[in-house]
Amino acid sequence: MLLIEDDDQIIASLSKVLKQTGHVVATAERATVGLGKVVDDGPDVVVLDLGLPDIDGLDVIKMIRGYGNTPVIVATARDDDDTIVKALDSGADDYVVKPFSGLQLDARIRALLRRERSGAQPVVQVGDLRVDIQAHEVTLDGTSIELRPKEFELLALLASRAGEVVSRRTIAREVWDDPLSSSDTTIDVHLSALRRRLGETAAAPRYLRVIRGVGVKLAPPDEG
Ligand code: CA
Repeated sequence: MLLIEDDDQIIASLSKVLKQTGHVVATAERATVGLGKVVDDGPDVVVLDLGLPDIDGLDVIKMIRGYGNTPVIVATARDDDDTIVKALDSGADDYVVKPFSGLQLDARIRALLRRERSGAQPVVQVGDLRVDIQAHEVTLDGTSIELRPKEFELLALLASRAGEVVSRRTIAREVWDDPLSSSDTTIDVHLSALRRRLGETAAAPRYLRVIRGVGVKLAPPDEG
């Protein structure tokens, strides 16, 4: 996630909590820098302070929208309806009114990403693998595959971001709802179970690529 905020104390306190809750946190103290990071880094969500020194927050929202679909949560000290309505009309997905806690922000981010995923692509096709997220159905080469609930959640998460590397922390947070205690071992056990069901192994991966120290990616077998 990317935090665009010019108040050092807010940056420090929010970064701390958000890192603890499993987010990879990037920060920018100016809108111009933040917009550059939106383009270069493709954050999963942007938390945007409306009162920035260089560009008006409402214009920043429009610029992010002009670029793509990155979800935006507006953090505003201005709790008047007018500002919030304008922010939402400009394309913000949600808002928090200062002062707010890092835990509240984490909950908003998770809710937003859940909505994104459930609304975006109910059926994901990756090579010959078809994942119907809403119907909880997985087929490979047209053959139905039975998965345990956590295996399905893991596959659904990876499928919803097919082609992208999903970090272990994100997996722990999204699948186990517990970024602080879900161990790598738990994730590895479920990954190998998932591999067995997809007919592949760690030594000969097809759909599931583990990028050491980074995370896991679901991609068609012929793509690197
Ligand atoms: Ca500010």
